[in-house]
Amino acid sequence: MKVPLLDLQPQMQPLREEILTAVTAVIDSTRYILGPEVAGLEDEVASYCGAHSGVGVSSGTDALLVSLMALGIGQGDLVLTTPYTFFATMGSIIRTGAMPVFCDIDPVSFNIDPEAMAEILEEDARGERRIRAIMPVHLFGQCAAMERILELARRYEVAVIEDAAQAIGAEYPMMTEQGVVWKRAGSMGDTGCFSFFPSKNLGGIGDGGMVTTNEPALAGRLRSLRNHGAEPKYFHASIGGNFRLDPIQATVLRIKLSHLESWHQGRRRNSEKYRQYFSDSGLNGSPVQLPEAVYRDFPDAADHNFHIYNQFIIRVPRRDELRAYLQEHEIGCEVYYPLCLHQQECLKSLDMSTRHFPVAEQAARESLALPIYPELSDAQIQYVVETIHSFYHR
Ligand SMILES: *Cc1c(COP(=O)(O)O)cnc(C)c1O
Repeated sequence: MKVPLLDLQPQMQPLREEILTAVTAVIDSTRYILGPEVAGLEDEVASYCGAHSGVGVSSGTDALLVSLMALGIGQGDLVLTTPYTFFATMGSIIRTGAMPVFCDIDPVSFNIDPEAMAEILEEDARGERRIRAIMPVHLFGQCAAMERILELARRYEVAVIEDAAQAIGAEYPMMTEQGVVWKRAGSMGDTGCFSFFPSKNLGGIGDGGMVTTNEPALAGRLRSLRNHGAEPKYFHASIGGNFRLDPIQATVLRIKLSHLESWHQGRRRNSEKYRQYFSDSGLNGSPVQLPEAVYRDFPDAADHNFHIYNQFIIRVPRRDELRAYLQEHEIGCEVYYPLCLHQQECLKSLDMSTRHFPVAEQAARESLALPIYPELSDAQIQYVVETIHSFYHR
């Protein structure tokens, strides 16, 4: 049996005619830059996320970059983030002239550890106060500990840029005067950054991204910067770039957005199947550690937070051997991420402190992503678990 890590065919097939019609309409309209499809998607994504505005951009990477630019972050500034994420999180920081400061992760959620963050922010506040922003990543589709992160951001007066590239629709329980309110990724920080890369839960037919924000003035700056800072056309009070979202992507994404909730449910159902089969096979706990959501602040919140499972990540001993074994058995799997950001070659020429982040480094050695896309069959999931069982019982 073949089990690809991701198969986009079963998602595209039923929507193919509708998408072809919509793309044809954009072609026939000759409106090829921004326009009504982009504006429509911006409103729909903002409202889906519970944010005031959305600004369509060329990719998730550019969403991060333009957010930093709009917040005036650059040369001499530091941005606090996680060393265990996709490269773009750090790349965008360095491209503005700022530098990343890393903080270790929580061993259970793989997300930035707010207590370690608190220490770094306190140290910075006693010294030069160079940290201007926190960039938490909602890794694999699960929100970082936003309640505590927002509290720290207020205390140390730094901005929060949510890297929500893997987490559109993920929810986090916030304690308010009215009780617990579930907030969606991208609606909690100063900006939320989304990617429509084809492998994300909401993926286009190419690159695309979106920035969400609740601050109208910031939305205006983002809108201007994605278009070379031109206001009006050919008059530039600030320097932006060409970070515009393509209307062909926007029209496809609008169609797909209406199915997103049911796709999330499919991924969540599959995660439950994995849990069941791993338990039945006796692998759960040892040697296989399954993904878990534990938030100290909300022990009673249903499901702790709403995970959209962009990736289903297990931790295992002999990870690389298991990976090769699964590949031999036609099971797709991947390592996210084999090397932490502080260990990347490109940092060697920069003057970075050589600290270690043991929790992140261990995650990079042990984690393995299994297929989780919504249309997987029970038989496929069972085959993945049986194959892992046979690897550890050879
Ligand atoms: C995918 C991703 C990005 C970048 O998005 P692109 O659209 O590929 O530029 C940024 N951060 C994280 C965590 C991602 O997973």
